[in-house]
Amino acid sequence: MAISGKQLINGLWVQGEAGQYQAINPATAAAIEPVMSYASKVQVTAAVAAAEAAAPIFAATSLTERAAFLNSCADEIMALGDELLDRLSQETGYPKARAEGERARTCNQLRLFASTILKGEYLNIRIDTALPDRQPLPRPDIRFTNQPIGPVVVFGASNFPLAFSVAGGDTAAALAAGCPVLVKGHNSHPGTCELVAQALAKAVQKAGLPGGVFSLIMGSGREVGSELVLASAVKAVGFTGSQAGGMALFHLANNRPEPIPVFAEMGSVNPVVLLPQALVQNAEAVATGFVGSLTLGVGQFCVNPGVVIALQGPELDQFCRAAATALAKVPAGVMLNEGIAAAYHKGTAHLAGQAGVELVAAGEAIGDKAGFCSQAQLFKVQAQAFLANPHLQEEVFGHASVLVVCQDKAELLQVVSSLRGQLTGTIQAAPDELAAYPELVQQLRQKVGRLVVNNYPTGVEVCDAMMHGGPFPAATDARFTSVGTASIARFVRPICFQNYPAALLPAELQNSNPWQLPRLLNGVKTTAAVEA
Ligand code: NAP
Repeated sequence: MAISGKQLINGLWVQGEAGQYQAINPATAAAIEPVMSYASKVQVTAAVAAAEAAAPIFAATSLTERAAFLNSCADEIMALGDELLDRLSQETGYPKARAEGERARTCNQLRLFASTILKGEYLNIRIDTALPDRQPLPRPDIRFTNQPIGPVVVFGASNFPLAFSVAGGDTAAALAAGCPVLVKGHNSHPGTCELVAQALAKAVQKAGLPGGVFSLIMGSGREVGSELVLASAVKAVGFTGSQAGGMALFHLANNRPEPIPVFAEMGSVNPVVLLPQALVQNAEAVATGFVGSLTLGVGQFCVNPGVVIALQGPELDQFCRAAATALAKVPAGVMLNEGIAAAYHKGTAHLAGQAGVELVAAGEAIGDKAGFCSQAQLFKVQAQAFLANPHLQEEVFGHASVLVVCQDKAELLQVVSSLRGQLTGTIQAAPDELAAYPELVQQLRQKVGRLVVNNYPTGVEVCDAMMHGGPFPAATDARFTSVGTASIARFVRPICFQNYPAALLPAELQNSNPWQLPRLLNGVKTTAAVEA
């Protein structure tokens, strides 16, 4: 089916009733066909009602059925072929290789969630069987599992139009948990959103699931986004984007008559600490690695290294020279949309105007390049000026970073302790050097969700062990990840059954353990059946 510009509501494609618009190619600033539509409030209500109706049916599917559905979502996305890759490149300015890489990541993610739920660990099943003869009181039979939380609203991110968007990490985790998903697509890549939603709609249909299991709503965040979050049938929200957007939704959700969790990942400046011996041994390699991480994808990653912290000295001077040489070869890059490019220009101009901040290196100039382009920039500031100015900790989304120069170790620790919550913290250290900085490690552990040593923060692996989140303001809830299989935990809630008729228990709690799942049975992890 060609891109229609319509909304996916209850399994049907319907024309949006609240206005029209066109996607813009950021490389040329030209409008892209066809005309797209925005959903009305009435249409949002219809989509939520369909999700509510689908919730118990979807929740009742077996793990095998749900895993097959997730794999089918991946198959249908792949079946879109070049149409998806071409539209994605048109709407984002991504080279085709990046589009292909992100498609692979998105499909692998869906398949990983499929294999994960089959293992059943996420259900955290616990069974304490009855002890009728216990003194002074008998113990009843008690069985604990996780069940889907209910319909989830997902706000797609602008910077990962596949992997954090319509069928991205939040959607995969919510569907894996058994929750219907309502995606508020990002207006920056609406055609891509629709194509992926077409794939998911096919998978829903092939699985014989109700249409309300997956919906795509396009429109303004403040209008349809807010309506979705305020709908009483919605039970959780997944969001990736700006702090302003994430916090607006967080407050909205917390002020509902029934507050619901908002799992917002709002980015950070991802400090990179350069320890002196690492620079003495190989300032050039560290600088090249840093510039590669800073400029990857025009810096449009939430884990982009926006602050570098180091001790002054000749080795740091060498790092600066090498970074300047590497940066000078980086071409001006096309940003995702006009708003992001404008925010980058404003943010870098703001940085340049702050007391004590100087521009020390830059990429190739924009020149007469068309579209929404930007130039990579590296600024420098002394630690005391950084400590005195909280604005220098604000994320400038894109390929800009601030090098904070510290006079000594105490000042370096002071800078690190002044940092707000972050997604990542990175340390470049020579062998054995890390052991000489226990306070640094101690402090960074308090600040970050992922501690990286002698790697760079960009490149977030989708795996069982990943933590992509962190203390506020990096995320609204530091206990959860938005990438990797542990992210399912956001969309389930515990329930326990006490003295419940054995024949009526959910399959995973039944005596015979029909799905052969690992269970904590009277304090022992086992897949064994319960002796009746
Ligand atoms: P955004 O402005 O936060 O928007 C993300 C999504 O949330 C969009 O669908 C948006 O809808 C919606 N939204 C925003 N504010 C809202 C509100 N007050 N109420 C309801 N919905 C709202 O992020 P973006 O468009 O991706 O990029 C803008 C800036 O966000 C960037 O310049 C960058 O600073 C930051 N960013 C951070 C990350 C990260 O990984 N943390 C990723 C991308 C961007 P509308 O489009 O209709 O407003």
